[in-house]
Amino acid sequence: MTAAPARTRSQVERQAAAAAASGSLEQLSADSSVCRACPRLVQWREDVAVAKRRSFEAQAYWGRPVPGWGDPSAAIVIVGLAPAAHGGNRTGRIFTGDRSGDWLFAALHRAGLAALPTSTSVDDGQRLIGVRMVAAVRCAPPANKPTPAERDTCRPWLVRELELLAPTARVVVALGGFAWQALLPVLAGAGYRLPRPSPRFGHGAVVELADADGRVLSVLGCYHPSQQNTFTGKLTESMLDAVFEQARQLARGESRVTG
Ligand code: SF4
Repeated sequence: MTAAPARTRSQVERQAAAAAASGSLEQLSADSSVCRACPRLVQWREDVAVAKRRSFEAQAYWGRPVPGWGDPSAAIVIVGLAPAAHGGNRTGRIFTGDRSGDWLFAALHRAGLAALPTSTSVDDGQRLIGVRMVAAVRCAPPANKPTPAERDTCRPWLVRELELLAPTARVVVALGGFAWQALLPVLAGAGYRLPRPSPRFGHGAVVELADADGRVLSVLGCYHPSQQNTFTGKLTESMLDAVFEQARQLARGESRVTG
């Protein structure tokens, strides 16, 4: 059963905690996908869904928070910052239907982590293999920039999703410096001990964290597959392939801390 939409930060905290207590990722996804706790983002996601981009004007936009998706027993969790206005906010699935996703899914498919090389719609037959994908902020923000308050309001959804994934998750891949910065307090909230000073983002940087039960989670940095990075050559296909190979090795416990 889906709860009434959360409209405040404390309601987000309560609903996310209740979903985690029930042990249900599906419940967490259902509750988060109707959330209305950030007025600016609610307005934006819904305005975009009405105005649409001309090339998608025949399509019904999702226009809601985009929940995590993929393997509920994932060893690798990929975290992006937020859905794109005409990508995830249109299709209802993160990194689906946008240029960043084209790059990302092609690489995941080459690595054996996605069934198909493209991700175009929720009913395209795509399937993540041992991977879950989630946004640190679940609603598309104007100019792809959530405010710190919006990022913090959305945090409990990801904290509790990572708690539910903790029994199997071994690696979290942060796509871009903003996702990395958003992720660290999430991991602290999920019970992992963070080193001081705070670890710095870098492409291929790895930090290992342990929780109170001694579970170890590797955090792996990766440049965001945005057009800004892929067009300029800052991120190449081989660099992306190397990161996912590294993630696979870390998930198997075959390599350890490098930076
Ligand atoms: S960004 Fe997160 S907390 Fe804010 S409305 Fe969207 S789902 Fe809710």
